[in-house]
Amino acid sequence: MSISPTQSIAIIGAGASGLYLAYRLSQAGFANVRVFEARARLGGRMHDRGFDDRASPIALGALSFSDAHPLVNGICAELGLAREPLHVVRAGYKLRNVYSVGADPGPVRAAYDLGSVREGCDAYALLFDIIGEVAPLYRRFWRQPDALWRYLSLCVLDGRALCEWGFWNLIARTIGPEAYAFVRDSVGLGSVVANTQAHAAIFTLLWETQPLQRQFRLRGGFSALAAGLHARTVNLVAYHMQHKLERVATHQCGATLEFRRSGDARVSYHADAVILTCPPASLEAVSFSDAAMGAIVRSGCAAVREIDACKLVLSFARRCWPLAPAPLSMEVFTTHAPLAQLFLEAPRAGDCVLTSFSDGEAAGFWRGMSLSSDGPADARACEAAMNELARVFGPNAAAPKAAWFIDWSRRGEGAAWHAWAISADCDGVRARMRQPQAGAPLFICGEAFAVPQGWVEGALSSAEMVLERHFGLARPHWARSEVTFEM
Ligand SMILES: Cc1cc2nc3c(=O)[nH]c(=O)nc-3n(C[C@H](O)[C@H](O)[C@H](O)COP(=O)(O)OP(=O)(O)OC[C@H]3O[C@@H](n4cnc5c(N)ncnc54)[C@H](O)[C@@H]3O)c2cc1C
Repeated sequence: MSISPTQSIAIIGAGASGLYLAYRLSQAGFANVRVFEARARLGGRMHDRGFDDRASPIALGALSFSDAHPLVNGICAELGLAREPLHVVRAGYKLRNVYSVGADPGPVRAAYDLGSVREGCDAYALLFDIIGEVAPLYRRFWRQPDALWRYLSLCVLDGRALCEWGFWNLIARTIGPEAYAFVRDSVGLGSVVANTQAHAAIFTLLWETQPLQRQFRLRGGFSALAAGLHARTVNLVAYHMQHKLERVATHQCGATLEFRRSGDARVSYHADAVILTCPPASLEAVSFSDAAMGAIVRSGCAAVREIDACKLVLSFARRCWPLAPAPLSMEVFTTHAPLAQLFLEAPRAGDCVLTSFSDGEAAGFWRGMSLSSDGPADARACEAAMNELARVFGPNAAAPKAAWFIDWSRRGEGAAWHAWAISADCDGVRARMRQPQAGAPLFICGEAFAVPQGWVEGALSSAEMVLERHFGLARPHWARSEVTFEM
């Protein structure tokens, strides 16, 4: 069944996937498209904020993309959005109280009891060694996502397919718990080595670390993509902000959607077809009149794990850390929890910005500070941050001029990103979520149900799959690339 351009389409969510769907459908001549968004702002997890008079905004959500992201690069070029190179440099570490400057965590490594485990390896070299043991031919497929995904599904460890292993269990089994701790701490992202499905985790790691990949960010941040998609569609698509979907009643000729508006007002709309792009936590809270459909949706949501993350942005009048990043580069200093990763930008006159980025367990520390979920950081959090910074770089003279905190783990709204649960049938779940019930005009997409989870590219590729498989759209000319995620 293909939906025709005369039918009414409701898109739920105005994040990356919802805005992309609105753009593609309106360009293809669909004349009756509405977008419903729970928040008062567009963009979802593409969220930047002008900060303390800086010319360029700070990314509170998505930051960068690489040339291995065909849809993001294609749509940005199509919309005329300027991208700039971003050199992310590993600047140093303070782990287990050992300080080391530069990309090589050599001195830090000595603080871990690694025994004979690959003498001299850094964390990524260890990870690639592990991958080489369980998937010896991975280099052949490094730049072909479809083939890499299929190859990894054939690999086994101790007689069990990789999808039946948790990645953390697999690492600990291969190199031992102390080496696991070294990898986790020095990568600085708990989510990379969390106990999510090893098949998908290894795929993501290889895709993200392809050799010769270049990183970019948009001038104006990813919000510029949200604004660009909105600007191109605002005269063709009806946008309904602060409409939170609560109930879907499907019937023979489409669906009736019930929304809660601000002030508890309720409103309902009919649509011939519905595309839901809300993340699983929010999807699980939607009630479905069709119990069988509700059960499929809930089981799809249970197949992905939520990964929490927080960002704390601090702006200082003077640099109070020893590292001085070059223009267009960003230095990453990895610390023990709770600061986790410190992103240091090139200082500008009267303005030095540092962003602390914590995910997984480290995010819990900042949440425990009972801060607002997206607003100025309160005094307690600033004091904690200054104490932590003093532990890393020595005493800081000046308090920050301004501070902002965002918690991407608010229960009921969604998480920072998602990863497949151990033993989840990723391919089956993605296909089932795309259209939970054959013949029913209800479709689900978004980052959580993509192959490249955790990226804007994932959100766009899963939306593109819905458009191509169910709305009869051809792949756009600007997206043609040898890289696809259609497996
Ligand atoms: C801290 C952080 C860093 C990241 N870094 C990067 C990066 O560097 N590069 C990269 O490519 N990606 C990054 N990502 C991931 C990227 O932001 C996401 O993968 C992508 O933006 C997800 O888009 P989406 O459309 O699937 O979901 P969302 O952006 O979450 O959009 C869903 C929308 O649906 C709305 N909604 C939810 N429930 C309802 C409801 N019931 N009714 C109506 N509306 C609803 C939400 O308000 C939201 O606007 C990062 C994310 C975070 C949080």
